[in-house]
Amino acid sequence: MLISHKIQLSPNNKQATYFAKAAGVARFAYNWGLEKWKEQYNKHKENKANPMPSQLSLRRHLNSIKKEQFPWMLEVTKNAPQMALIYLGKSFNNFFRGTAKYPKFHKKGIHDSFSLTNDQFAINNSKIRIPHIGWVNMRESLRFFGKIMSATITRVADKWFVSVTVEIQENPHLQKAKNQGAVGVDLGVSNLATLSTGEYIPGVKSHKLLLTKLRRLSRSLSRKQKGSNNRNKARIKIAKLHFRIKNLRLDCLHKLTTRLTSCFHTIGIEDLNVKGMLKNHKLARAIADMGFYEFRRQLEYKANWRGGVVVIADRFFHSRKLCSGCDHKVEKMPLSIRKWSCDNCKSNHDRDINAAINLKNYAVSSTVKACGEESSGFDSRIKVKLSSVKQESNTKLACI
Ligand SMILES: [Zn+2]
Repeated sequence: MLISHKIQLSPNNKQATYFAKAAGVARFAYNWGLEKWKEQYNKHKENKANPMPSQLSLRRHLNSIKKEQFPWMLEVTKNAPQMALIYLGKSFNNFFRGTAKYPKFHKKGIHDSFSLTNDQFAINNSKIRIPHIGWVNMRESLRFFGKIMSATITRVADKWFVSVTVEIQENPHLQKAKNQGAVGVDLGVSNLATLSTGEYIPGVKSHKLLLTKLRRLSRSLSRKQKGSNNRNKARIKIAKLHFRIKNLRLDCLHKLTTRLTSCFHTIGIEDLNVKGMLKNHKLARAIADMGFYEFRRQLEYKANWRGGVVVIADRFFHSRKLCSGCDHKVEKMPLSIRKWSCDNCKSNHDRDINAAINLKNYAVSSTVKACGEESSGFDSRIKVKLSSVKQESNTKLACI
């Protein structure tokens, strides 16, 4: 399993200048490659005897001309242009697979970064050695043990970070969950989550809190003259605020997913159609703030580490419309209804807690059935969809 750890760097002035230069070379190589790719593709379209572009052929081409045409590239690590072209190839692969848009030219100051392969750097406690500039201090040491695969150095606001990718063993032998029981988690908009235990977990809603500040800064940015020093300062302020919002949100999600996976063995959640929900603009900001995708991703890999199971209910499982007491289904359950009572068994329900209990029951019955034991009497038509974390964990990066 690949996992990456992002650590802030403390470079001196000379090192920070080098980072900016290497990121500039990477950006240039990427844009150069994209231009060439388009040219070669057009030639190929005209005459099929001309080869299709590929990142490998672009890398060879650049290597053969860089000494003469772009000698300044030699001032930084050779990885900077090479890896940029490898990423360009990946971008095109994603585009052909239909999972990404057509690659765009990179702009200066937006996602400035460059990458290093594992033979080009070394890590020793809280230091990283980088070609040409030697040891750079890191704010903390690497948290994972395993084979170090690569490192990407990125500028966020006015700070530099390194993201080190490590291949760790499939199960890092974390303690099993304290409670080998199950919990259902209902994700919501007003609360980040409601548990089947009756507990509400409020979200950070970091955007909402900091939105006014962000708006004020954006307005002030638009008043500043392009290319001026003041505009650059305002841009950095905004980037810092975005960074803070993102950290607040991630922190909140990590705490919740760590708690859930260390407390419960089986966790039932909904298969949210986030894309469909994001089209609803009123809810969109609240949902994006809550980071549902990120929640599910973290839950899956953390449960996997502890030998736990995440059960994702079928999209058509009506967790909100079923009575958790008697399985009676109500026809309608508009968002405005927070409390209701069942016509059949007369029990009173809190909308979210009832949904969470249903998800817990679903998870328990699914895992029981998956183990080949007797059905617990729960609706046998429900399809079992166990978390696909095992297949995904090899290809996805888990970021802690
Ligand atoms: Zn009922």
